[in-house]
Amino acid sequence: MLELYNTASRHQEPFEPVDGETARVYSCGPTVYDFPHIGNLRTFVLNDILCRYLAFKGWEVHHVMNITDVDDKTIAGALTQGVSLSEYTQQYTEYFFEDLETLNIKPAWKYPRATDHIKQMQTLIEKILDNGHGYEVAGNVYFDISSFADYGKLSGIEPEELGGGEYTRLDDEYDREDAGDFVLWKAAKPDEPSWDSPWGPGRPGWHIECSVMSMEYLGPTLDIHTGAVDLIFPHHENEIAQSEAATGQQFVRFWVHGEHLIVEGEKMSKSLGNFYTLRDLLKEGYSPQAIRHQLLTAHYRQQLNFTLEGLEQSERAMQRLNTFIERLPRLPLPQGSSKEAGERIDEARSNFEQVMDDDLNVPGALGVVFELIKDINTLIDAGELRDQDRVVLRDFLVQADSVLGLMTNQLEEAEREPALDEEIKALIAEREQARNDGDFARADQIRDQLTAQGIILEDTAEGTIWRRK
Ligand code: AMP
Ligand code: ZN
Repeated sequence: MLELYNTASRHQEPFEPVDGETARVYSCGPTVYDFPHIGNLRTFVLNDILCRYLAFKGWEVHHVMNITDVDDKTIAGALTQGVSLSEYTQQYTEYFFEDLETLNIKPAWKYPRATDHIKQMQTLIEKILDNGHGYEVAGNVYFDISSFADYGKLSGIEPEELGGGEYTRLDDEYDREDAGDFVLWKAAKPDEPSWDSPWGPGRPGWHIECSVMSMEYLGPTLDIHTGAVDLIFPHHENEIAQSEAATGQQFVRFWVHGEHLIVEGEKMSKSLGNFYTLRDLLKEGYSPQAIRHQLLTAHYRQQLNFTLEGLEQSERAMQRLNTFIERLPRLPLPQGSSKEAGERIDEARSNFEQVMDDDLNVPGALGVVFELIKDINTLIDAGELRDQDRVVLRDFLVQADSVLGLMTNQLEEAEREPALDEEIKALIAEREQARNDGDFARADQIRDQLTAQGIILEDTAEGTIWRRK
């Protein structure tokens, strides 16, 4: 049975969707003001692994990830570039989706944008006000944390500690996202995009977005909410306060938080300038496959120290994996099946699920796959792998990779190629016949066709042999 560490209880707990069928998962998505760095992408890869594994366990997955397309940074970026906010955020949203695809991250069920949900945010804010949990000051609306008894239950923060020992009602401050009462709606400033509201023109606070877009698509109670650890406070604490103050129901059953990717002991971040984007790494010649692998080498609740040396190790590990996968379908194997190989693969299958059930132990799962490959190589050398075992082995690799997402292309490619071999052999035979018949035009045509496919022919005394370019 799958167990997940729940930040709310600080325990690892058995997980099942509340309705037994569909896992409702919400993840805080990107702020689309720049390219994501690979620290951000580590968190998105964690979301991907979680959702892939929920599907592996047989559940339907409804995964929602928001796109933050209005905040201080996006507004500032649009102003600097002299384009509209939507034009500005659109380009970075597209880059974000490109990066997800490069890293073989499965698309979420929905990617709602904040600016498409302004009306719903206003409705939720009104509900919070009606329930007595907020107040308005000069066109700004704030959440009153003293009105919500459970404030601090996720992060362990004591409300009294906020704002230097006392927290008082705000008067005309705009931005109090780090401490005490926090903003739900901000009054418009000059030159900034704004929307009409019952409190005058303005724009939503950051926290309210996530409460609205999660509940809009997943209902008042989510099975799982994810993000990196820096979001526990204040962002997620505030999401709970807003949502539960409005609905009176539990907002999230499982809080899953990923640790940071760090560089020399510090969190990778734009503000520290110690970051790589995915594009930086691709430009230096690293493969998406190795980058994804590197992001999976630490358990999600451990920090991952990112180095180029580590990435090179991943390149080598992926090389070994690819060579194995490429070679497997071509091996001349005896017919039938071997007990030893069958048992070894079964053992890997059950170990894989066991480690993944244990709070998504991906490094453990990678270990299971690589150990298996090592042992299978030994069996091959000893003539103990048979053609039926190969089918079972491939089946396991496909299943494991539905979660890991590291070798999908390689597995498909390797399957395609033996079929291609047959086709090539048939064409070579046809060319042989054409030459014997004196039909040199047809013979040349076949050679050209194969050249175009990257196949080089060489006519020898023993007949025609071929190789790939
Ligand atoms: P942002 O685009 O800044 O809103 O961040 C997107 C996601 O990346 C959030 O869940 C952040 O908590 C997460 N994040 C930011 N920096 C790191 C890091 N160094 N390692 C892992 N996750 C991070
Ligand atoms: Zn969020």
